[in-house]
Amino acid sequence: MAEADIALIGLAVMGQNLILNMNDHGFVVCAFNRTVSKVDSFLQNEAKGTKVIGAHSLEEMVSKLKSPRRIVLLVKAGEAVDDFIQKLVPLLEKGDIIIDGGNSEYRDTTRRCKELKAKGLLFVGSGVSGGEDGARYGPSLMPGGHKEAWPHIKHIFQSIAAKVGTGEACCDWVGDEGAGHFVKMVHNGIEYGDMQLICEAYQLMKDVLHMNHDEMAEVFKAWNKTELDSFLIEITADILKFRDPKGKPLLPQIKDSAGQKGTGKWTAISSLEFGVPVTLIGEAVFARCLSSLKDERLTASKQLAGPNDPKFSGDKKTFLEDIRQALYASKIISYAQGFMLLRQAAKEFNWCLNYGGIALMWRGGCIIRSVFLGKIKDAFDANPDLQNLLLDQFFMKAVQNCQESWRRVVSTGVQMGIPMPCFSTALSFYDGYRHKMLPANLIQAQRDYFGAHTYELLCQPDKFIHTNWTGHG
Ligand code: NAP
Repeated sequence: MAEADIALIGLAVMGQNLILNMNDHGFVVCAFNRTVSKVDSFLQNEAKGTKVIGAHSLEEMVSKLKSPRRIVLLVKAGEAVDDFIQKLVPLLEKGDIIIDGGNSEYRDTTRRCKELKAKGLLFVGSGVSGGEDGARYGPSLMPGGHKEAWPHIKHIFQSIAAKVGTGEACCDWVGDEGAGHFVKMVHNGIEYGDMQLICEAYQLMKDVLHMNHDEMAEVFKAWNKTELDSFLIEITADILKFRDPKGKPLLPQIKDSAGQKGTGKWTAISSLEFGVPVTLIGEAVFARCLSSLKDERLTASKQLAGPNDPKFSGDKKTFLEDIRQALYASKIISYAQGFMLLRQAAKEFNWCLNYGGIALMWRGGCIIRSVFLGKIKDAFDANPDLQNLLLDQFFMKAVQNCQESWRRVVSTGVQMGIPMPCFSTALSFYDGYRHKMLPANLIQAQRDYFGAHTYELLCQPDKFIHTNWTGHG
């Protein structure tokens, strides 16, 4: 009998939690998993006492679904998604909907949209953010793909998503094809940037101001009541004050070698592909790469000298406020760059993206959730055609107010030999973006000199000139 509102395949942590979340909101969910024994185990344990039902085959699962059938895949990205789609296609009818909620590459989602459209099926690629807690109690959801599917899934998606303000759901339709997964990818890239910026602030406090972990925890706690109010600042305060069973701070005992799963790298690759200067996310990815060269760094640390006996002679309290402002300004640059990438992708793929809506989707539920995203939403709501976040009055003034502190932090850090890849690239981007004239005229001359690549004169645009720079032949 068709009794389930939706099916979910993939009973690892994300899938289980999303099912329980849907159940809490009154939807009947049918659970399935490749390793079928996990279905019974889930029904007898985590889902005991709920309305969740299970299936031991895809055929059984499909037979239990109301029409149009809605099937969510929350399995390992890549082959597993294609395998399940291939098995589902012969069992489904025209108008049925497959939703991939995994961290799929956006081009795969675009390909799957095309393949399934040819078979009369609807496909949605949805970013899901917020980790296991988000999935359980309210994730940020970023669905894209075949828009005809949206009216059939909107109610479920917006019910289970995180809510902010007066109950607005952190979920709306993103756009065609792989747009949902593209937006999720940029979200993850921004997450890399936010985390690295916090790490740079931490290192400056630790190595310039010689603060202990409790002092630093207090500072992050206080910062969380300012413009920086966000999940990542909040957990940083918790991490700094966390102690091991012997009462020692745990953080300095953790190996300083950062892992990554690839979505930050995908964002950096996309920005290179589309020619968008998303420098901060790129630096954040490279900072993780550099951190992972632990053995090499240990060798280098014994041989490569930094500045000779650097000492900070300024006022500690003033410098702490400088760091906070440098972090805020750099964060604004990172989001401005992220939205530049979204704008370019929309142009490349002819997607109609709602930037204010995207900021709202990230406002709650996900790892980069922050009060600051509300301001970004306001900026794009006020001017949906806003070319760059830095040209919005609020952000223009915010960066202006932080500028002196930001420059002081970067110059102090450089003099003291502290690596600050994201603070400094953000400042360089700002200075580059605000300059009417950059030294790229010299690049054009050099290219023309050695390769006859030609150049334009400022007074004669669109006329391409070659000069014989050496006077020979
Ligand atoms: P996961 O470890 O990425 O995947 C485990 C699930 O995939 C299991 O149900 C497993 O089935 C199935 N699976 C793996 N290989 C398969 C194959 N070749 N064919 C069929 N099924 C296969 O689980 P997860 O951490 O819950 O994540 C699920 C998805 O959400 C992933 O795409 C992940 O990137 C994304 N995501 C995760 C998080 C997070 O915080 N964990 C956050 C956002 C998004 P078996 O039980 O049979 O092995």
